[in-house]
Amino acid sequence: MAETINIQLAETKKNKPTGDLDFGTIFTDHMFIMDFEVGKGWHDARIVPYEPLTLDPAAMVFHYGQTIFEGLKAYHTEDGTIQLFRPEKNFERLNDSNKRMVMPAVDEDFALEALKKLVEIEKDWVPKEEGTSLYIRPYVIATQAYLGVAPSTQYKFIIILSPVGSYYKEGINPVKIAVENKYVRAVLGGTGEAKTAGNYASSLIAQEIMNEGGYAQVLWLDGIEKKYIEEVGSMNVFFKINGEVITPKLNGSILPGVTRDSVIRLLKHWDLPVVERKVSMDEIADAHAKGELEEVFGTGTAAVISPVGQLTWDNKDFVINNGQTGEIAKKLYDTLTGIQYGTVEDPFAWTQKVT
Ligand SMILES: *Cc1c(COP(=O)(O)O)cnc(C)c1O
Repeated sequence: MAETINIQLAETKKNKPTGDLDFGTIFTDHMFIMDFEVGKGWHDARIVPYEPLTLDPAAMVFHYGQTIFEGLKAYHTEDGTIQLFRPEKNFERLNDSNKRMVMPAVDEDFALEALKKLVEIEKDWVPKEEGTSLYIRPYVIATQAYLGVAPSTQYKFIIILSPVGSYYKEGINPVKIAVENKYVRAVLGGTGEAKTAGNYASSLIAQEIMNEGGYAQVLWLDGIEKKYIEEVGSMNVFFKINGEVITPKLNGSILPGVTRDSVIRLLKHWDLPVVERKVSMDEIADAHAKGELEEVFGTGTAAVISPVGQLTWDNKDFVINNGQTGEIAKKLYDTLTGIQYGTVEDPFAWTQKVT
């Protein structure tokens, strides 16, 4: 395992963006890379100027998709420090994804140390405007030049950084979502619980069709019976029915979100009823018919909380909370973002300072 990080600073720096930031279009001056080779392990950890990679056209990642990624953010706090939100959870999940895809584990403590060093070097890239942050994308790719279907013997672990704007530039707006009845995101025994590229490539078609129909996201059902709810877009999903908050239980095809876990822990901390269990679309339709479907929201690093104002299933429209953001969704959003930006007490020691 690499112990030291070689640092080579960029000779010229890019201009920092001004004005509204889009998601994931601008990258900072430096990146972290380390290499893996069977027999040698991870080695050559380095922070270098951000630049294109040179890979063999036969690199296995291009052919069989052996690659995984993570997503987290660094936040500028009011006292001028920069902090991360539960970053150890992301590196733990990175290794869970690595394992599923037969890729080598990274040393989680070392990866976090490398990330902090990189963010510290790029601290002037962490935007300060309300709701903005520095998005962090760690990922691992298979780089061996080989066309055989087998695990690669060589990999690169890379971290890149991208300043991003506020997800809710015009305030939180509940979205319209539709239940996907034809395509599925994942099946039991598949790769749904790993953050691996193929899951996203295969879900684009449903997202595309839904977007054309005026829906923001797809509500995914289980891949076997198409009966039970799994996720919404690339977020986990929560329902408030008759005072109780319900989220689908992690079953192997659902991605275990850090935001999902944080929401469950906050609700428990507030003594609000929250359960993880199987939840079917029939149950949601029933609850709506009885006037008991009080809130629906998605959770994920990008949006934190994404309230759902309308849910469409088999041409039936269920309007939720008059299309308004629910009380629990709002409280969760304010608390989580408050902890992330350091304006609300952090009772779980979820944040870690970079500088
Ligand atoms: C990343 C992701 C989530 C949310 O995870 P967070 O750790 O909360 O950002 C949920 N579902 C899918 C499919 C994802 O890729």
